[in-house]
Amino acid sequence: SDVLLSVEGLKVHYPVWQGWRGKSMAVKAVDGVDLTLRPGECLGLVGESGCGKSSIAQALLGLVPITAGRIRLDGHEITGPAKVPPLQLARSAQMVFQDPMSSLNPRQTIGEILSGPLRLHGMGSRSERESRVAEMLGMVGMAPAVASRYPHEFSGGQRQRLCIARALILRPKLVICDEPVSALDVSIRAQIINLLLELKVRLGIALLLISHDLGVVEHMSDRIAVMYLGRIVETGGWRQIFTAPSHPYTQALISAIPDPMHRDRVPARLGGEIPSALAPPPGCAFNPRCPLAFDRCRAGEGPAFTHIGPDHQARCHLLQAGTSHV
Ligand code: SF4
Ligand code: MG
Repeated sequence: SDVLLSVEGLKVHYPVWQGWRGKSMAVKAVDGVDLTLRPGECLGLVGESGCGKSSIAQALLGLVPITAGRIRLDGHEITGPAKVPPLQLARSAQMVFQDPMSSLNPRQTIGEILSGPLRLHGMGSRSERESRVAEMLGMVGMAPAVASRYPHEFSGGQRQRLCIARALILRPKLVICDEPVSALDVSIRAQIINLLLELKVRLGIALLLISHDLGVVEHMSDRIAVMYLGRIVETGGWRQIFTAPSHPYTQALISAIPDPMHRDRVPARLGGEIPSALAPPPGCAFNPRCPLAFDRCRAGEGPAFTHIGPDHQARCHLLQAGTSHV
């Protein structure tokens, strides 16, 4: 099929006890998200911290309980009674984390770290595993000899290469990258971004790139989903999002990219704080910060998606036919 990952109506709500109210409330970290990812494509999931991006990643890997919705990956159910066991899921999806320091076991050699998943899945003889590790190290630009060394002997950038090698060793079809370069020195970010792009093409893997940094998303993504307060507010192809953003939030994010290519754009300041997912504002959740908000934005359920073009949609009352503000 031409869909690798499909997410339908995903909700991840975390209960929190509020003593002064004497009752339990729900943080609606993810509140009704639909996503699809095709084989070999990079989908950039972008939004400010706290918008629910990482909760989506955790839900995909079965790391947090899902409140509602359905997730299918590579023909397997990840939710519901027929869900695939975690060990089997690991062969379809892997994750690269933000902090390469804390995500490698300091007591294991690089060879042990990389061959561990192969051993766990009963793949290959010892010598076959060793040659797979050497091949994988080569793919991330490291010498085979590093297999006998320990994580602390490497720089942040090298460690992130090793994390990428570990994520790819089982040849998953999907790699989820949660802020893959934001903990790294600015000077080495481009190398890691280019490595991920090269491996995506070479191995045909799909990437779900989670980032607050629209500059990184612009370099890596084929399609983009913009998230605000637990919901997707705009999705589209790279060209639609970066040349014709339709949602005021996307427009504000793009105009704030510190990239010389975009100096012609008028910088819009995105004022105000992100409201709490515990008590989202009524109407369009973006209304307290939106420079274009009008009465209708402050009440009701909030705008539904409007189809702007093929594979491009956004949730804003201004996009709906017959709205005089357009
Ligand atoms: Fe702004 Fe209203 Fe559109 Fe929300 S619906 S983005 S508040 S104009
Ligand atoms: Mg996060």
